[in-house]
Amino acid sequence: ATPTALMVGIGRGASLGILIKGQDALEASGVIDTVVLDKTGTLTTGEMTVTTVEPAVTVDGDDELLRYAASVERGSEHPIARAIERGAAGLDLLPVDNFETLPGLGASGTVAGHHVLVGSPALLETHNIKPTPQAIAPPEQSGVGRGVVYVAIDGVFAGSIRLSDDIRSSAREAVGALHAQGLRTILLTGDDAPAARAVAADLGIGDVRANVLPADKAGVIAQLQADGRRVAMVGDGINDAAALATADLGLAVVSGTDIALKSADIVLVRDHLGVIPDAIGLARKTRQTIH
Ligand code: ADP
Ligand code: MG
Repeated sequence: ATPTALMVGIGRGASLGILIKGQDALEASGVIDTVVLDKTGTLTTGEMTVTTVEPAVTVDGDDELLRYAASVERGSEHPIARAIERGAAGLDLLPVDNFETLPGLGASGTVAGHHVLVGSPALLETHNIKPTPQAIAPPEQSGVGRGVVYVAIDGVFAGSIRLSDDIRSSAREAVGALHAQGLRTILLTGDDAPAARAVAADLGIGDVRANVLPADKAGVIAQLQADGRRVAMVGDGINDAAALATADLGLAVVSGTDIALKSADIVLVRDHLGVIPDAIGLARKTRQTIH
């Protein structure tokens, strides 16, 4: 390897908004054949908004449902938690005991003596709590980038909260550019399949891995590698730090946490997903110059 070509590559990267953390990263990016993309906070903005509140008959209206959910979510760092807190603005929240965060599933706590669970449909399923039929939205209502959170109080379904999460405006073009580079793309998410498929369909991603718990994301990467694929993982660092580190190349988008930045080889500091194909294209060129 000629140091000069690497220096030029790294310098070009910086001007494109790409911070490359070493020559290994640049080398690895040149041979990637598969790009795995995290959904929430990476392909979507992660800045969610509560759109609909549907309390069950056992709960005293929208405000009561939001009050219980937001009280628990105050303890969570997830973008969904922030959205539910904003959705409950103006309501008096209640003190919470025994708060627990359940990575990739939700959160729980005791609110005014009642045990409250807030999280994915899968979370309530594991507790054998069945939603009322109205809570299951027909696909046309769930829409692109939308998710649903279920709430249970004392082991009984208490209602659902729907959220919108906009796809980043640069996502479709970036995915198209990756395909034009001959790369295969996979959408990886802890979300349930309907929300994941809606986003994937909008972006032209055919391969969807939904309901993957944070602890299992690295395993999905390792399995692809065992199948002979050379994998880049793109994430925001919330729940995907291990996957970023496992991949042949880890790319963290700018909003990533410190953990993600440490586990990523390349940090994308421009708030435009076009940096993903740019980074891989640059690495390929640099590699050709070196070899
Ligand atoms: P992604 O893989 O798309 O980044 P996560 O793994 O962070 O998503 O979360 C997966 C799912 O778990 C969410 O879509 C949501 O249903 C549920 N979830 C996780 N954390 C919370 C929370 N604090 N409150 C409610 N639901 C949550
Ligand atoms: Mg995420």
